[in-house]
Amino acid sequence: METETAPDNTEPVKGGDYVLESKLGEGSFSTVWKAEHRLSGQVVALKQVYLSRLNRHLRSCLDCELNFLSSVNHPNIVRLFEFFQAEGSIFLVLEFCAGGNLASFIRLHGRVQEQIARGFMQQLGAALEVLNSHHIIHRDLKPENILLSVPKDDAVLKISDFGLSRSVHPSDYVETVCGTPLYMAPEVLQFQRYDEKVDMWSVGAILFELLNGYPPFRGRTNVQFCFPQLLQNIKTCKCLPFSQLYLPSLHPDCVDICSRLLSLNPADRLSFNEFYWHIFLRRKGVAT
Ligand code: ATP
Repeated sequence: METETAPDNTEPVKGGDYVLESKLGEGSFSTVWKAEHRLSGQVVALKQVYLSRLNRHLRSCLDCELNFLSSVNHPNIVRLFEFFQAEGSIFLVLEFCAGGNLASFIRLHGRVQEQIARGFMQQLGAALEVLNSHHIIHRDLKPENILLSVPKDDAVLKISDFGLSRSVHPSDYVETVCGTPLYMAPEVLQFQRYDEKVDMWSVGAILFELLNGYPPFRGRTNVQFCFPQLLQNIKTCKCLPFSQLYLPSLHPDCVDICSRLLSLNPADRLSFNEFYWHIFLRRKGVAT
């Protein structure tokens, strides 16, 4: 996994009882560090959220994230061990996921076999079941927000980042949030009312990318123009751009779940229960 060394980890503590080792990631409101507990040596991911960058709304979203993560202990949701305030920041002490995120994994390995994709989807289904039971819509599920316990295809997947980017109004997304809207449901892109089906769209986009090695829809690379073009591409799509190379080897159930997750109209899109109980997820692995 690519990391950047901490600027000066001999400086007086910036992360409480933790020594910062290297930077794992960076967003608009936070930096994520690999860190080690001074006494126990436990390796963790320390997410430093800069309070000065949060308005009142975002601060309350952070509180919601802390509340939710503190109450959950599930293998497919990143574990929050504790949090504390220091240096004008809130530090979230998270379980360290040595496999990095799914975006890097796909960049490195390319598409995966159907049964690997199924295993990943089953794990996302297990995590989403927990979100569902807490009436939480993630809204920004994407490969960057899915972490792997190890950098292998038998990794345990963990949904992370329940916080700030998804709480930003989509119209502010371009200015405030680093990251891609490629996995966002069309109704989110259009600033329309939305429900939990938006996460189903994102799951479909992630499954599509796992099977093909590229996302189903793209916009321009310049993020400023990405939104309208992405939306246009989604709306005018007649047929999902499955790779002609891999399509013949995919089981019809696999193509079916993917296509129905990526239905433009949320009313036609699979609900969480329909996804969870879809034959593709319930079928025992068949080598492809
Ligand atoms: P926000 O959108 O709330 O501003 P952010 O983008 O700063 O968040 P995250 O999305 O939580 O922060 O993390 C950014 C990146 O840091 C992830 O894509 C991942 O590569 C790395 N990372 C985050 N948490 C962990 C973790 N627990 N273990 C390993 N790497 C992590």
